[in-house]
Amino acid sequence: MSNNLSFSYKRSVMAQKQSLPYNAKVIHAELRAREYETWAAQNEKNTHVSVGGLDSIVLLAFLRNIGINPPAISVSSLEDKSIQAVHTEMGVISIRPIKSKVSVIKEYGFPVVSKSKASKIEHLQKIDSPKQTYIHAIMTGKMGKQGGYKHSDKIKLPDKWLKLFGGNYAEKRPDLDCKTAPFKVSDKCCYWLKEKPCDDWAAQYNSVPYLGLMASEHGQRELGLIKNGCNYYGKAVTRSCPFAIFTRQDLLQLALDLSVKVPAIYGTIERKEDGQLYTTRAQRTGCSMCGFGIHVEKRPHRFDRLREDNLKEWEYWMREIGWGEVLDWIGIEWENEPHQIAGQQSLY
Ligand code: SF4
Repeated sequence: MSNNLSFSYKRSVMAQKQSLPYNAKVIHAELRAREYETWAAQNEKNTHVSVGGLDSIVLLAFLRNIGINPPAISVSSLEDKSIQAVHTEMGVISIRPIKSKVSVIKEYGFPVVSKSKASKIEHLQKIDSPKQTYIHAIMTGKMGKQGGYKHSDKIKLPDKWLKLFGGNYAEKRPDLDCKTAPFKVSDKCCYWLKEKPCDDWAAQYNSVPYLGLMASEHGQRELGLIKNGCNYYGKAVTRSCPFAIFTRQDLLQLALDLSVKVPAIYGTIERKEDGQLYTTRAQRTGCSMCGFGIHVEKRPHRFDRLREDNLKEWEYWMREIGWGEVLDWIGIEWENEPHQIAGQQSLY
């Protein structure tokens, strides 16, 4: 069976599981968690829950509800204050980032566009990179010998970003007039702020994590969950995602069923007339001052919200650290207030 066929088969299995009734998915989550605990015990490993926003808060409550009580860890300082308060209430162990966001930005570059695209842009920003085959594939989509000389739109960066960041290798795409950005871009922020501190803790305590990831959230996570399933016991990575097959609706329903304390940033969980559950404030949260996904956000966007909440901090990040220049470069308005945009209704 070719890799492609096997992936499309796995995708259809995931779709099938996602269409199970809610109760069946909850039972499935419990079975996966118990299976993971058994594996950990047999392999002399401990388990822990890696906690961030609502999804993993619900996961922690779920595991405790079924009698699985691993410690929970979080780089809480990156989260909203109301999330931090719930972490404290639930006894989540707070761990510290290894570097500050400012030092990561200065040393490596800004986290912008998306994690996988930032990594490709970082490669393009290295003059005379030794990875010329990869650079060629990012610029043109043409794979080298190893890739069977095929074309890959997955590896190629969209032209929109090549025009803004492909300047060092402009000769590979003379049709685009590629420019070189006056700032660095990198995907290293998550590594230093979240991943390494959690990995170091896990290594210190010989522990493997539960994560609150759901394939329905799409992106890189979806691909990983389809490829590796709910529980993955790899050479370098072992992890359990009992909610892999959940939809957002399932997650919110379980939060209600378990009377989970919902952090204030999300508001409350309510039901629309058509029966759909939703949170009355933020639908999703993430670190503040992160540029991943900013290009698809409507105004007032996250940088506008910071301006509303804390003008001094906004001035610092936008003008001193340089987010303003980054947003200008990728064509995202920030300096005018949202209500100054013609035709846009003020939300201030
Ligand atoms: S989500 Fe964004 S700001 Fe947060 S650690 Fe990752 S890259 Fe940095």
